Amino acid sequence: RDKLRKAGKIAAIVRREGAAKLKVPGASFLQVMDYCEDRIKELGGQVAWAQMAVNDVAAHFCPEEHETAVSNEGDLIKIDIGVHLDGWIADNAMTVEVGNSNRYADHMKAARNALRAAIKLVEPGRELWELGVAQMSEAQALGFTTIKNLSGHTIEQYRVHGGISIPTFNNKSKIQLTEGMQVAIEPFITEGDGFVKEKGKNTIWMMRKNANARSPYAKKIITEVAPLNGLPFTNRWLTRKIGRGPTALGLKALHQQGVITAYPPLAERTGGMVAQYEHSMIVGEKTEIYTKHEEDSW
Ligand code: MN
Ligand code: MN
Repeated sequence: RDKLRKAGKIAAIVRREGAAKLKVPGASFLQVMDYCEDRIKELGGQVAWAQMAVNDVAAHFCPEEHETAVSNEGDLIKIDIGVHLDGWIADNAMTVEVGNSNRYADHMKAARNALRAAIKLVEPGRELWELGVAQMSEAQALGFTTIKNLSGHTIEQYRVHGGISIPTFNNKSKIQLTEGMQVAIEPFITEGDGFVKEKGKNTIWMMRKNANARSPYAKKIITEVAPLNGLPFTNRWLTRKIGRGPTALGLKALHQQGVITAYPPLAERTGGMVAQYEHSMIVGEKTEIYTKHEEDSW
């Protein structure tokens, strides 16, 4: 529990610092995500991930080594930071609108309201469908919907997704929260029709099983990522060590063999803009939100 608390504190600080940097027009995505990873280590954490997603993309993007994109006035950017200590993971996210255009304040407000409403219900014995209803109600109150094929999740040591999904709508799940359960709640809010589909190049991967890779490039990648114990990794961690060509070939081979799973960028299918807020917590009579920053209003 102390490791979770410490990971949570670091995750909250880095999330806010990263968000503040992205909010400034012209911020390099690559530099900000590199900054976040370095900062996690500097604060004594281990990097689980530093991800971001822009506008209609809801999740699962990491800049590559050669990424040149920067934030632009009016972009709606999600930053999702994962920190761990010996596999005890803190997962949290927030959204910023770049510059001062102020077009998406309601998207962000609805996402914060949805998260807050769900957190209020977190206690042992609570059925999951109720958390879904709470999130959807807050989304609809401001004219939005949640993204129904994205969800929160339980967390276990070295497992980002512990096997139980926390719905963002009424999925009728009678599964109950239990004392001590580690849970991440993360409503995604959009004015679109509320479903994501895959869009663009894979930059996030997780290793599924140990395997004997045939190609030397695949072997090199396994050597790099096996110590992560199943936590995610991104292309640029590899390209910086073994080069772009070997990384591309090695990833392709491992993906085809089923050794690694790809997590492609997920975009709202009707092009809707997406806002997301997320906290991690430990369920209890008094639930502990361990990624909460003192300046978070949600
Ligand atoms: Mn997250
Ligand atoms: Mn999460």
